[in-house]
Amino acid sequence: MIMKTILNPIKPYGKLLGKQKHKADASYRLMNFVVQTPVKEGLLLLHTMTKEMLLLSQEEQQVFENNPADLPELIDKWYLVPNEHDDRKLSRQLRKVAQMVSKPQKGITGYTIMTTSDCNAHCFYCYELGQSRIPMSEETARQTALFIINHCEHKPVNIEWFGGEPLFNKPVITLICNLLKEAGVKYSSTMITNGYLMDDETLKEAKDLWNLKRVQITIDGTEQTYNRVKAFIYKGVNAYERVMNNIEGLLKAKIPVAIRMNIDMHNAEDLEKVADYLHERFGKSKLLSPYVHTLFEDERIKVAVLQDEKRKVVLAQRKHIHDKLQKWGMYSPNTFESFIKTSNCMADSVNHLVVQPDGHFTKCEHYTDSHHVGHVFQESFDEEMLAYFKAEAPEPQEACATCAKYPMCYFLSACPNVNECYPEMPDDYVHEMQKQTKEIYTRFLKSMKKAKKAKAEKMKETKPKRFGVLSSKIEVVPLASHYVVAFKDPTTLHINKVMKLNALGVDILVGFVDERPAQELASELAKRYETNLENILHEVTSFYDDLKSY
Ligand code: SF4
Ligand code: SF4
Repeated sequence: MIMKTILNPIKPYGKLLGKQKHKADASYRLMNFVVQTPVKEGLLLLHTMTKEMLLLSQEEQQVFENNPADLPELIDKWYLVPNEHDDRKLSRQLRKVAQMVSKPQKGITGYTIMTTSDCNAHCFYCYELGQSRIPMSEETARQTALFIINHCEHKPVNIEWFGGEPLFNKPVITLICNLLKEAGVKYSSTMITNGYLMDDETLKEAKDLWNLKRVQITIDGTEQTYNRVKAFIYKGVNAYERVMNNIEGLLKAKIPVAIRMNIDMHNAEDLEKVADYLHERFGKSKLLSPYVHTLFEDERIKVAVLQDEKRKVVLAQRKHIHDKLQKWGMYSPNTFESFIKTSNCMADSVNHLVVQPDGHFTKCEHYTDSHHVGHVFQESFDEEMLAYFKAEAPEPQEACATCAKYPMCYFLSACPNVNECYPEMPDDYVHEMQKQTKEIYTRFLKSMKKAKKAKAEKMKETKPKRFGVLSSKIEVVPLASHYVVAFKDPTTLHINKVMKLNALGVDILVGFVDERPAQELASELAKRYETNLENILHEVTSFYDDLKSY
């Protein structure tokens, strides 16, 4: 069997699953979680549950295509399962076990802080429209900092600044950071902003005090569309130009920027122009990563988007823009997750809280005016509400039964996006995985090539000089501390000599110089003769003299 492992299964799965027992009377089928990707050397199999990746040689591929059960290793490793096997049940069971064995991390170290629910723009799709617009007060900000200090268990904290528009209430960001700094808490932050207020002065503070590591900015269209959709409160300013300049400032300050482009039925063409513009202006920066987001989750347009034809158009347009960005090296979906998903998001994570401007805690930024789980001024949490956010929902689609993405799909009943899956999702996922499988394999080949080259270089450096050629058939190679004698064609005399030396404790290896590098033989001897070098040198020298007279 020459089946090659490209990626090992992730730890808990490898251990928990063990080898699958073979059933003599069973008919086997491919598990639903196997993605096949043909490559020049054969066929790559990615197991989306265990994350193992195998390469079948071309011969094995043929066997696989005729009758995969003739490759018993695929049964051992759960690529093949009996026809009646319940793949989803196994995936759920393993996740449950992984949840039980994973030790919950102590302390609350992740925060989404809504500095205000007010905003300097008025996007039509904003889910916060119609909700109260209040800024976080200084008192609440102080208490938030105190809460973080008291609950971080001396671990580094990550804060996502969110709003409304988080920069619309900049002083609370500064205040919270100053208080954390004074208390010696290590922290870093990210921000979801429209970018309008990220001027030079703010940028300096963001770098020096806020430890800002990443920013997400939404761009909904080219200049005219953007200025119309965003409807900023400022008059007589070209908001688009200003935001683009601020993006440039962020990139110069080496802060990565993700650009989210919201697509709907009407703006695809416009977004393609935005992508062109971003490429033209920032294409050289490795820190800018634009991506297209469908607004499927937005209730007000969901019904329209879910109509098959329209949805297909939007998805095709999204793919078209992503392909373009990918070609320019500006987009890498990286949806291959090499871990077991034991939780879905901050809503069911015990280490994350969303802090609302009025100090209430919630678990999801889509729940602001209700579903509170606590408050910065209180020590206790509403356990019932925490459980509400953790509750799992039934699988939303019939297609889940055979979908390769199933092990990575998680369904929380509180999640407003739980029905975001659309009929094309399973196939899209497989295509994405095939692309990423190829990327991983290319990286694997490169690293193999590099390792081989490094080994050859090392061999070259340590290659011993020939001590002397005794005949065309015998070669003696001195190494730093000992000698190796290797024969192309060992004779009885040589063997006897070797045996004599062996009896003296000198284990001269007999080998074929051209077939097995002398260096390799020498290394083996080196391991054995470190302690009696004098003796070896003496014996080998007399052996050498003997050979000369032979
Ligand atoms: S991608 Fe869609 S069909 Fe597939 S498992 Fe997730 S929800 Fe189900
Ligand atoms: S919207 Fe859904 S995925 Fe996002 S935080 Fe809320 S519950 Fe989690």
